[in-house]
Amino acid sequence: MTGQPTNWAGNITFAAARLHRPASVAELQAVVAASDRVRPLGTGHSFNRIADTSGDLVSVAGLPSTVEIDHGRSQVTVAAGLRYGEFVARLHEAGFALHNLGSLPHISVAGAVATATHGSGLTNGNLATAVAALELVTADGELRTLTRDDDDFPGAVVGLGALGVVTRLTLDLVPTFEVSQYVHDNLPWHRIASDQEELLGAGYSVSLFTDWTGPRVNQVWVKRRTDVGGEPPQPRWLDATLADGPRHPVPGMSAVHCTEQLGVPGPWHARLPHFRLEFTPSSGEELQSEYFVDRRHLVEALAALEEIGDRIAAVLQISEIRTVAADELWLSPAYRRDSVALHFTWIADTGAVLPVLDAIEQRLAPYDARPHWGKLFGVPPEVLRERYDRYADFVALARRYDPTGKLRNDLLDTYFPDPRELR
Ligand SMILES: Cc1cc2nc3c(=O)[nH]c(=O)nc-3n(C[C@H](O)[C@H](O)[C@H](O)COP(=O)(O)OP(=O)(O)OC[C@H]3O[C@@H](n4cnc5c(N)ncnc54)[C@H](O)[C@@H]3O)c2cc1C
Repeated sequence: MTGQPTNWAGNITFAAARLHRPASVAELQAVVAASDRVRPLGTGHSFNRIADTSGDLVSVAGLPSTVEIDHGRSQVTVAAGLRYGEFVARLHEAGFALHNLGSLPHISVAGAVATATHGSGLTNGNLATAVAALELVTADGELRTLTRDDDDFPGAVVGLGALGVVTRLTLDLVPTFEVSQYVHDNLPWHRIASDQEELLGAGYSVSLFTDWTGPRVNQVWVKRRTDVGGEPPQPRWLDATLADGPRHPVPGMSAVHCTEQLGVPGPWHARLPHFRLEFTPSSGEELQSEYFVDRRHLVEALAALEEIGDRIAAVLQISEIRTVAADELWLSPAYRRDSVALHFTWIADTGAVLPVLDAIEQRLAPYDARPHWGKLFGVPPEVLRERYDRYADFVALARRYDPTGKLRNDLLDTYFPDPRELR
């Protein structure tokens, strides 16, 4: 390997001794079987060491780029290493859509699913909830398929790469739809409490962006399905002003990176993400964290964070508030909880950000906040364990799929210790 690979943000240099990019499943099986320390790598968009290993890092991006649409079942089977942006237009052309997308189309399907990546929407589960089946190479090099009928399935989907290397995923599809995206500027903060339902239900997907510098939400992004009807947005809504031009969520950044706004209708895949595939998403120079709390606690959780708003603002580029529907996937941060996700795009300075993270985690502790698996967090393992009903079941599942622990790394050892240590 020439030079150590890093993650997208550049804050993690992977410790791997070797990086593999097998061109066939057989080659992948041989790599996994022969290795005593191995981890799957997606597009490296996670901000922590979740994908790292000291041994063999394996990318599945070199496997054949399968996109098989099953019209009868309304499903697609895709190669795990594909980035969403590489196949979503094909789904639309075939008359289909995915129910949800993250803010960026640059991430791999397997990586997004493994960490429960999400978009927004009161009734929209995260991206992993679309998974109907997955095929994976387990620690012994065997190729296995899991479907919703398997008992292991709800534990395996948001699998953090701990059960094997996923090669293909089958995703549920819905009929294609069009979306119009509107931005509203300067929503008074108190509207979150007084008009929560109208605000968060204003579209198929709603995002609130704030920089914590004043009693306002800087921007409200509303993505409305054009087939649902409803009145066109008013110039003033909940005392916010309809934006007169395209916006970037991070103050001062060019909106050219962002998906089309100003109500221009377009296919779901060109409106649900905030950022376009051909541009750098977000600010590019950043770190991120995100915490999920029960939606019922939104107002109290925000009030708790407001107390440290000046500390947050000092190291922040922008915060985003989104909704995620409850699901049944064991390690999903929205497991059995209709959730709000409180997101922070930080400046690229780990040392300055970590103390603020600690303060946020203390403030959100009463609400049993679950951190995003692919972003920075410091919640102690013994605390996090209590926030997931199926934690011990997942540890046992991972141990069954990987008895020698070859798929483990420092982060998994810290957060998912051997079941015998849990007694
Ligand atoms: C600019 C930016 C914007 C983001 N926006 C959002 C957002 O809107 N919503 C959100 O929820 N998150 C968001 N994220 C976080 C991101 O979606 C997650 O970190 C996601 O895991 C990235 O996917 P990846 O392919 O880069 O995975 P990686 O970071 O490469 O890996 C993540 C995990 O997936 C596992 N994995 C990867 N490939 C496989 C495989 N083939 N088989 C088994 N396991 C595998 C890895 O082992 C690791 O544990 C954003 C990140 C960035 C950088």
